[in-house]
Amino acid sequence: MISRRHLLTGATLLAASAAIPRAWAQAPSGPYKLDPLPYAPSKNEPHIDAQTMEIHHDKHHAAYVNNLNAALAQNAEAAKMPLQDMLANLSKVPESIRTAVRNNGGGHANHTMFWQIMGGSGGEPSGEVKAAIDRDLGGFQKFQTDFNTAGERQFGSGWVFVTVTRDGKLALVAKPNQDTPLMEGQRVLMGNDVWEHAYYLKYQNRRPDYLKAWWNVLDWNRIGQRYAAAKAGTLTV
Ligand code: MN
Repeated sequence: MISRRHLLTGATLLAASAAIPRAWAQAPSGPYKLDPLPYAPSKNEPHIDAQTMEIHHDKHHAAYVNNLNAALAQNAEAAKMPLQDMLANLSKVPESIRTAVRNNGGGHANHTMFWQIMGGSGGEPSGEVKAAIDRDLGGFQKFQTDFNTAGERQFGSGWVFVTVTRDGKLALVAKPNQDTPLMEGQRVLMGNDVWEHAYYLKYQNRRPDYLKAWWNVLDWNRIGQRYAAAKAGTLTV
């Protein structure tokens, strides 16, 4: 009796642990890898603390990459597609791995963009990006207010993005979970992660404070490069 009861408990625990994202696990072989952060984790202090950056990149982003590779290990055909093409054609991805690709492929694309556009010193955009914000988003101040409001209103987990067309036209869009405008074949200029894991250590429940502080770490030079790449048709994720 005792041994059977213990065996059942052990089996239940094993099943439960298998469902937990295993950031600590050895990455399965696969087409995707986690690039290092392009700057020190402390670079965005004091607005985003180093520990949040480390856990966010080393654990959360790593888990998306590992889980994406694990899903694609079951499908050689899907594994050959560039990430942005796979996300834009989820209906062509086998149903057995579609949800895993959507969540983890979206997570990988979103976080790859996210690290790129931070590590800067904030301030205001200039040049073509400033002109596009003035033309399409009502100017920088209105853009910031509308962007932060969209972030506050996103129920649960998700992202706020600025999309950019090949003609350079900008639009604001919020998405749940790890969904991305890439899934509609669009391109993303920039975006902010409003999952609690992005801010909870420092800001707890104060998402609006995090949203306001985030602007201080943007790298507008890098965002300008993404804008130019979008217009040249070379922006991927
Ligand atoms: Mn995140």
